[in-house]
Amino acid sequence: MTRFHKHTLLLNADYSALAICDIYKAFLLVFLEKAEIVNAAEGEYLHTVDKAYPVPSIIKLRRYVNIPYQKVILSKSNIFKRDANQCVYCDTKKDLTLDHVLPRSRGGKSTWKNLVTACQSCNSKKGDRTPEEAQMPMRHQPFRPSFLMMLQNNGLNQNHWLPYLKSS
Ligand SMILES: [Zn+2]
Repeated sequence: MTRFHKHTLLLNADYSALAICDIYKAFLLVFLEKAEIVNAAEGEYLHTVDKAYPVPSIIKLRRYVNIPYQKVILSKSNIFKRDANQCVYCDTKKDLTLDHVLPRSRGGKSTWKNLVTACQSCNSKKGDRTPEEAQMPMRHQPFRPSFLMMLQNNGLNQNHWLPYLKSS
């Protein structure tokens, strides 16, 4: 098969967005008849020795999967993602680290509301101070992101996915 670096939006049977997966997993779900193609990438095909298959861009599960609440896991990469991979103090995208808004040494917890993406140099400049004390205002306040928001901010989105990523 030709190598693709593409992703597929996976929808539940009711067209609500579930996940983003790579096209091989999507292809397999379609092949196993667990999902059907809602939208195929135009003019792109997965080639096997004797066949060409459309590249699934959006697929939908045939059977509804009941997922009551998808919680976003607090992790370094999810915090980076929430903050659009930018330092909240200076906007740079380089040398990113995690910063505790209220420093850990002063009782600051590792929570969505106390962790932000900060570059190496802002992080050491801020040191053991709060943003107010360091006079380093944040470009946005940290928050707990919703599952749908994380799907919207993943940087892989294709335009025709957007109608499925809007919150209802
Ligand atoms: Zn910075």
